[in-house]
Amino acid sequence: MAKLHLITYGCQMNEYDSERVAGLLGRQQYELTDREDEADLILINTCAIREKAEEKVFSRLGELKGLKQKNPGLLIGVMGCMAQLQQSAILKRAPIVDLVFGSPAIARVGELVERARRERRPVLETGEGALVKLTGILPRPDRLKAFVTVMEGCDKYCTFCVVPLTRGRERSHAPESILEEIRGLARQGYREVTLLGQNVNAYGKDLTPATDLAALIESVNEVEGIERIRFTTSNPVNLTSRLIQALRDVPKACEYLHLPLQSGSDRILERMNRGYTRARYLELIAELQETVPGLALSTDLIAGFPGETEADFEATGEMVERVGYDSVFAFRYSPRPRTAAAAFPDQVPEAHKGRRLTRLLEVAGAIQARKNAALEGREMEVLVDGVSKKNPRELAGRTRCNRVVNFDGGGRRLYGELVRVRITQAMPHSLRGTLVGRAQ
Ligand code: SF4
Repeated sequence: MAKLHLITYGCQMNEYDSERVAGLLGRQQYELTDREDEADLILINTCAIREKAEEKVFSRLGELKGLKQKNPGLLIGVMGCMAQLQQSAILKRAPIVDLVFGSPAIARVGELVERARRERRPVLETGEGALVKLTGILPRPDRLKAFVTVMEGCDKYCTFCVVPLTRGRERSHAPESILEEIRGLARQGYREVTLLGQNVNAYGKDLTPATDLAALIESVNEVEGIERIRFTTSNPVNLTSRLIQALRDVPKACEYLHLPLQSGSDRILERMNRGYTRARYLELIAELQETVPGLALSTDLIAGFPGETEADFEATGEMVERVGYDSVFAFRYSPRPRTAAAAFPDQVPEAHKGRRLTRLLEVAGAIQARKNAALEGREMEVLVDGVSKKNPRELAGRTRCNRVVNFDGGGRRLYGELVRVRITQAMPHSLRGTLVGRAQ
């Protein structure tokens, strides 16, 4: 069998795509290898969300040059968002690349690899293709938690974001094909699914008949064997009362929501084309907190978006305090090619971005520590998914609100089990606890 080495950067969607590619190429007699020096085909699944992510790919390609010289038969491919965005620029800058293809072409990966091998000249495939649901192809060794793509693309055109350019317009998979995939996962022993979409709560609007994410979650709740349902990433614009109620009422839906804010300033939100104001965002937060007891909230923030003044930045910090997020993912603004904001004249100096980012992370970290500390003494349900990173004699898992908990399992084999753990100590990024017993 030929050997495939996969390198994945970026988001969960990319991890999911890499699994699909491995599954599809498995049908063509490619088996996965961890070692790039024994590979016949190396595929790099890329991210284009920040310039840094792209630079990482180019430096990785530079490292692979030597391998290609030693083994001229080695095929090297670049797939994913950066492939879609940069297209032929990749072939120019990294002539060792034999194949460049975007996400819409994943279903045809086998044919593209064969073409690159046969034609011995670079193959470029970045057109928009039909939406194909590739289900349950690669059984993963852990068989516990799985990502399931329910929709692709985004129509929102936030001025900083490349997703509409790399992943195309919003398109939902049919509920039946999603449920078939999830039933297959449950049969293999998976217990948690995360429904994925760049704009996941816009799910179903484009289908005939139209449906929504709440209805999908209700159906997934009926799948025997699946114990937990998560979904990401939600957009405040598409967050409905129906979905908020589903978070409360559907037993397997976890009390956790990632709701990107990006900025706390109305002026900046407008320049970002986010489609909501801070007042509207706060209304949603109030509804969420009133409706779903114990809901954990996380968010994305951008520091130093073009034109962001100190006052705009302060407004973001103030929102972080006001909402009291359980966790925050903050990044400095990075101009992306072909996005509107990259051409805005009032770019913020890097030093300001860095300082603002550090400040946001400090504020968010203090809140997170406070919220973790409030959980001390509480008994929480944990899905055991491995061992503690720091102490392999301890077990680790996640709460429904997505916090990592490390605890002494008393030597019991509890992998994949739902257990109850009493929280004894809160750390900045995780919790420690003692095992109470198996969850009912
Ligand atoms: S909604 Fe999200 S994916 Fe869509 S353009 Fe905005 S940031 Fe990008």
